[in-house]
Amino acid sequence: MTWEDHASLAPYNTFGIDARAERLVHLETEACVADYRVHPHGYPHQTVLLSGGSNMLLCADVPGTTARIAWKGREVIGETEDHVLLQVAAGENWHDTVLYTVQRGWGGLQNLSLIPGLVGAAPVQNIGAYGVELADSFDSLRFFSWDTGEIRTLSHADCAFGYRDSVFKGALKGKGVILSVTFKLSTQHHALKTSYGAIQDELAARGQEASIQTISEAVIAIRQNKLPDPKVLGNSGSFFKNPALPAEQVAGMAARHPQLPQYPQPDGTIKVAAGWLIEQAGWKGKRVGQVGMHAQQALVLVNYGGANGPELWAHAQRVQASVFEQFGVHLEPEVNLIG
Ligand SMILES: Cc1cc2nc3c(=O)[nH]c(=O)nc-3n(C[C@H](O)[C@H](O)[C@H](O)COP(=O)(O)OP(=O)(O)OC[C@H]3O[C@@H](n4cnc5c(N)ncnc54)[C@H](O)[C@@H]3O)c2cc1C
Repeated sequence: MTWEDHASLAPYNTFGIDARAERLVHLETEACVADYRVHPHGYPHQTVLLSGGSNMLLCADVPGTTARIAWKGREVIGETEDHVLLQVAAGENWHDTVLYTVQRGWGGLQNLSLIPGLVGAAPVQNIGAYGVELADSFDSLRFFSWDTGEIRTLSHADCAFGYRDSVFKGALKGKGVILSVTFKLSTQHHALKTSYGAIQDELAARGQEASIQTISEAVIAIRQNKLPDPKVLGNSGSFFKNPALPAEQVAGMAARHPQLPQYPQPDGTIKVAAGWLIEQAGWKGKRVGQVGMHAQQALVLVNYGGANGPELWAHAQRVQASVFEQFGVHLEPEVNLIG
């Protein structure tokens, strides 16, 4: 466990915001979590958990302690004829873990290639892309409770996964730490998901059949073309969620805007593309000072360099207000606001 006072968080968040942590502690091993809980500067002081910093907007300096998750490890903990159970430490890089599974021919995570961040944060918003969510390959996770210091195993049902949502954004928010995640991955009879047009187009352009390997490569290529690289242009991917609206409301909107992209959901609601609403409201590619919505992907809020958290948040609110004014739809941030 290594401590720093008044540390810059610029290297640890993908917006590149230079907010300061009053105290930053690097938790290099899983055992550090229990040590931190009883440390004089540890829990119950205000604690912000920092993983890869790719889904947070630091709106101010962070008081109390920022605890950086940095422990690693992967282990096969069970096997059946068709599946392998792979337990991965919270501090492992997500994309490296996907490649690790793809190289071994284990199916399930390939559509989630190249998502930034670390493994322990993936269940928090049930990461998803190209027709697949983390929940689809999830077996269980180990959760350390701040209150009791105990480690519980949480099942799929315990995690209450939803669209970019889980119990860790609700009842268990701020209650503890995800220590490791166990994935159930197919070793035979892979259920490959290529229903997303972009994957089919990319495979066709490459003249390739769908496989774990080729889908992963196709997703990587699509994402590299479409999304700004945070190392070049600060961002946190999609800033807002795609809103799920009542069918009658969407019918009214579609009557006025026949091109509105719509995605019917099993619960009867209809998801509409937040990026399309933002584009129609005139924000795509528009820059205000050092911030703006990306020119190729209107859902991505970008820091052109040197913007601080309040400037980025003010811009997000401008976009929110303008979409509400034009469509009567409230866009909810997907990104976690800190401070
Ligand atoms: C270019 C780009 C593309 C992206 N594309 C996608 C995408 O396609 N799909 C998608 O779903 N997301 C996407 N994201 C968002 C982001 O990558 C994911 O949400 C990712 O899982 C965040 O991981 P992180 O390690 O960076 O988490 P952080 O940003 O560090 O943390 C996120 C939240 O989880 C909490 N947390 C972190 N670790 C733990 C833990 N171990 N226990 C308990 N709480 C914890 C934090 O306190 C915080 O509230 C994208 C981001 C970028 C920059």
